[in-house]
Amino acid sequence: MIDFHCHLDLYPDPVEIANDCERRGLHILSVTNTPSAWHGTRSLATGSSRILTALGLHPQLAHEREGELPLFDRLLPQAKYVGEVGLDGDPEYLRHWSQQVAVFEHILEKCAELGDRCMSIHSRRATTEVLDRIARFQGAGVFILHWFSGGLGELDRAIELGCWFSVGPAMLAGKKGQALATRMPRERVVPESDGPFARVKGKPVLPWETELVATQLSSLWSLSVDNVDRILMDNLEKLL
Ligand code: MN
Repeated sequence: MIDFHCHLDLYPDPVEIANDCERRGLHILSVTNTPSAWHGTRSLATGSSRILTALGLHPQLAHEREGELPLFDRLLPQAKYVGEVGLDGDPEYLRHWSQQVAVFEHILEKCAELGDRCMSIHSRRATTEVLDRIARFQGAGVFILHWFSGGLGELDRAIELGCWFSVGPAMLAGKKGQALATRMPRERVVPESDGPFARVKGKPVLPWETELVATQLSSLWSLSVDNVDRILMDNLEKLL
């Protein structure tokens, strides 16, 4: 099982969740929202070869935490995985748009300098703006659009740009998310929970509840669950 975008450090009891994930054999991309959270979050992965920790600076925090960019730069050489990063065009965050753009472009530039990064990207209400920048910094590595919520035309552009997608139970519960996932290239999709932020039936999604994703995709893709599981595991291998 795979959860390729999860905020492990933000569950009420992260150590217990991490242990539970290890017991269940889950492969996890544990993303962070600030560079200063990196060390503590990475310590949750101690003793697990399946938990990867990503270095991030969330767009919703860009205006408060841009002072942590020098720390980001210092940590980046040891972080193959980067996230959560991106842009957020929600009215609540548009006020800080210029800071968001400055932070995201700085991060992309540094990733492109080093190359070979694997990035988990937030693009809520800012898909075109995110894709414009992905097009400019193609040398940075693999871009995984997490919880993609753009239009079908934007999806086609993302596919052309070589983007990957992480999809979760909350996204696939709605018709729009289902239509998008149906059109995504199967060889570039991995499951995610986006827990504890993402909720299903009012409760934060737990990392192992990404088990649902294979079932949801099997009906959208008209493949058996076993088949989908195999595809998702092959995809994971390519990202490791
Ligand atoms: Mn997230």
